[in-house]
Amino acid sequence: METKQFKAESKRLLDMMINSIYTHREIFLRELLSNASDAIDKIYYKALTDDSLTFDKDSYYIKVTADKDNRVLKITDTGIGMTLEELENNLGTIAKSGSLAFKKENEIKDGYDIIGQFGVGFYSAFMVADEVTVISKALGSEAAYKWESQGADGYTITPVEKDSVGTEITLKIKENTEDENYDEYLEEYRLKSIIKKYSDFIRYPIKMDVTERKLKEGSESEYEDVVEEQTINSMVPIWRKNKKDLTKEDYEHFYAEKRYGFDKPLKHVHISVDGAVRYNAILYIPENIPFDYYTQEYEKGLELYSNGVLIMNKCADLLPDYFSFVKGMVDSEDLSLNISREMLQHDRQLKLIAKNINKKIKSELLSILNNEREKYEEFFKAFGRQLKFGVYSDYGTHKDELQDLLMFYSSKEKKLVTLDEYVSRMPEDQKYIYYATGESNERIDKLPQTELVADKGYEILYFTEEIDEFAIRMVMSYKEKEFKSVSSGDLGFTADESQDTAAEEQENKGLFDFMKNTLSEKVKDVRISKRLKTHPVCLTTDGAVSIEMEKILNAMPNSQNVKADKVLEINVHHDVFASLKDAFEKDQEKLTLYTNLLYNQALLIEGLPIEDPVEFTNNICKVMV
Ligand code: ADP
Repeated sequence: METKQFKAESKRLLDMMINSIYTHREIFLRELLSNASDAIDKIYYKALTDDSLTFDKDSYYIKVTADKDNRVLKITDTGIGMTLEELENNLGTIAKSGSLAFKKENEIKDGYDIIGQFGVGFYSAFMVADEVTVISKALGSEAAYKWESQGADGYTITPVEKDSVGTEITLKIKENTEDENYDEYLEEYRLKSIIKKYSDFIRYPIKMDVTERKLKEGSESEYEDVVEEQTINSMVPIWRKNKKDLTKEDYEHFYAEKRYGFDKPLKHVHISVDGAVRYNAILYIPENIPFDYYTQEYEKGLELYSNGVLIMNKCADLLPDYFSFVKGMVDSEDLSLNISREMLQHDRQLKLIAKNINKKIKSELLSILNNEREKYEEFFKAFGRQLKFGVYSDYGTHKDELQDLLMFYSSKEKKLVTLDEYVSRMPEDQKYIYYATGESNERIDKLPQTELVADKGYEILYFTEEIDEFAIRMVMSYKEKEFKSVSSGDLGFTADESQDTAAEEQENKGLFDFMKNTLSEKVKDVRISKRLKTHPVCLTTDGAVSIEMEKILNAMPNSQNVKADKVLEINVHHDVFASLKDAFEKDQEKLTLYTNLLYNQALLIEGLPIEDPVEFTNNICKVMV
């Protein structure tokens, strides 16, 4: 018989998992029970919607059997089973692509629940077993197959006999080692407590043969061991329980059991609505960004149940894109079981639920912002970008909804602040909300353009993400205060030292015209700066497109080569200006050299590439000798 190899990537992940000191080995049982429950969900749903299948609720269950003497633990389910192809595909490939790359990028630490994250749930069995056997018979199939593996070396599949549809997983539990006790996974009381802890809410009975010491019949002092089949889990789905009876841990266990995320949720919301539309929902705001969150692969959506039966894994219509990070489920009695994806989109009930959920998420986020500031900042660092995309998309349709959830780094506070906080402490004479764009806070700190605004004592918001300025252009104004870039032509106030720039401009017209001609197409104008104090030059813009936007738009595929109207501003109080004047009078070749140098300096400060670095450095040398 040929032993098949796991796909290369799978093998490495499997090795990593088996050998990592995983702190919660016990979760292997949760993973296998969740799979069993999913498999029963599938057959249950089929039976409810397909008249040719008869359905008897009692025949759907999961059974856990421990055989201490032979060190064997069995998990049997009456679910939908797996065909030969499914055994091959589902159990032969561990992780979906990208998971290893994620591991490398993120330096996964011990104890980090990588397992649930990638659908490698089944493989967690190898954390406690050195041999795993899966016997399965799929619904509608005559044949049954046995899949066997001892871990990273590969697996075999052979035909076997099996009477009923479903899956039986047999784990050969590892021998104890010096540091690790594996016996516990064969102990009744231990298994019971693991099931209670992680899988209590599974909707199907998890049965176990439990030995109890009982008085012998007819005797008052003699005891005997009686083996009884018991259902270990309570089976009431968590969303049907009373909020008062649930703890934070219960919600966390449900989050993990459902594999909504590999982190602990930052916050949960439990909703029970009994009005025009009736539904229960449990929503989670995750703590960490899923590794594929900002990629095409990420699929938003909530699990959708109709009266307790799972009808859709990811119902996208329940969540707007800007809240796509929310995980969880919705159960409603008012939805039909047979409803198709297309019909759902037009379902009035579903629309009402979605609207309701949207409101709840927003109010929950606002409440975290107001009451648990640190938590909110953590959230915003992970998902703030998504909210900004939300403001920008659909031509700003959702800006009113989202603007209070935005945060930006503040020049004054040196931390994230909200727009409301900014506006509420604006001095009376300040007309605009100022912002500066750049690669990082450190770079913006040093931007010459911020000098005058900062000198006035005004706070500046730092835009360091590409989306920031685009989003704010959609918002336009907040509490009647318009946004203004510190690089825009008109800052909305004049510098205090009543500079008579008009006269000075007139006086030096020849010089500025010369400089402008030298730079020709590159700039729209060369001007006296009203915003510079210590720096000799900077670039600003006239018109709608900022330099930052030019950079972003041109980095896009099929860009239209958008150009910002750049203005080279000169600080006439800087010593350099005297040299410019001097050169204008005596040596225009020198002035050409100086003009190009200053322009290139301004480009560098903006983080823009200079056109000819070799020429630039040669020019510097010319000045030096
Ligand atoms: P995940 O459940 O996250 O997809 P697993 O590695 O745990 O990842 O399982 C892979 C797939 O194998 C499942 O999606 C399911 O299709 C199939 N599977 C696992 N266990 C069972 C089972 N008990 N019955 C039927 N199918 C199963």
